[in-house]
Amino acid sequence: MDEIKSNNCEKITRRASRAVRVGGITIGGDAPISVQSMANRDSHDFAAVAEQTELLFARGCDIVRIAVPDESCVPVFEYCRERGITGPLVADVHFDYKLAVAAAARGADKVRVNPGNLGGTDRLLAVAEACGEHGVAMRVGVNGGSAEKKFVEKYGGATPAALAESALSYVETLYKHDFYDIVVSVKSSNVKTMIDSTRMIAANCDCPLHLGVTEAGTARMGTLKNAVGIGSLLCDGIGDTIRVTLSAAPEDEIPAGRDILRAVGIFDSGIELVSCPTCGRTQIDLLGLLERLEPRLDAIDTRGKRIKVAVMGCVVNGPGEARDADCGIAGGRGEAALFCRGRVVGKVSESGAEDALIDEIRRIIDGAEG
Ligand code: SF4
Repeated sequence: MDEIKSNNCEKITRRASRAVRVGGITIGGDAPISVQSMANRDSHDFAAVAEQTELLFARGCDIVRIAVPDESCVPVFEYCRERGITGPLVADVHFDYKLAVAAAARGADKVRVNPGNLGGTDRLLAVAEACGEHGVAMRVGVNGGSAEKKFVEKYGGATPAALAESALSYVETLYKHDFYDIVVSVKSSNVKTMIDSTRMIAANCDCPLHLGVTEAGTARMGTLKNAVGIGSLLCDGIGDTIRVTLSAAPEDEIPAGRDILRAVGIFDSGIELVSCPTCGRTQIDLLGLLERLEPRLDAIDTRGKRIKVAVMGCVVNGPGEARDADCGIAGGRGEAALFCRGRVVGKVSESGAEDALIDEIRRIIDGAEG
């Protein structure tokens, strides 16, 4: 076999994209990848929407989207500001471009439209003009139902190419009219379609990209579909903001999104937990240990450090298999070995393993590991 050339494949090189300001945060450029969710309370009930929005921001959501189904809902953004909500808010508008124009003027930081259902280029440009006037960004969304008819006909259906070309044509139109604060998304419930069309867009414009699989389903399958779709693109370096769409409470979308970023290694601080699958050599109650440990690790503030922690079932293979971990434990009979970067540094009883590992992590955070 020929020598396999190393391409430093662990490192993700992010696609260069234009930086777009959305309220207090930036999407694209070298800004961290943001995690979004969407309020699902009745948009006419401002207090309920604001309460849910506060909860989403408190749970670590970076951007919250709010549906604007009719004109009476437009003041919800001003209401949220009056309540003291400062995080970025996005107005979600379908069909009626006037709602997007009004939301841009009245407190939204970004408007999300599907140009294909606004009813013509003039209306899209009217939204862009309002956005430009008020320093508001626009998300240009395309899905199977809103792809341009001419491209659907050209490609014989709402294929990835039809979706991508639709999105790119809207970008071209907006750029021609000097509106550049655009984030682009292609949504599909088909993971492969979402991946392929987003790759095409990524290769043909400099807009930051919003990733997500739509109508993904319940928490279990929805998280998996999004992990495959969003995760594949992130591994290619594509994607600047994500939403894990789930048929679940919106606040459940946030940890799912953060976990996808962690799973592909895109996180600046926090703990990455790796653990072995267990086998016939396992001599401790590894699954019970992990169940207790995971929430404790989630609660640790690593003060900007990124720490890899391994929990392995046996001392024969564990420390070696997890040698790139900053610290970890490997089970023995009634005891566990504590190791740091593949080297065993001590032994603890099985019952003391959990606390010993936490202590070691704290030493790493304090810069005092042995
Ligand atoms: S670390 Fe040990 S117990 Fe775990 S899977 Fe590998 S060999 Fe089995």
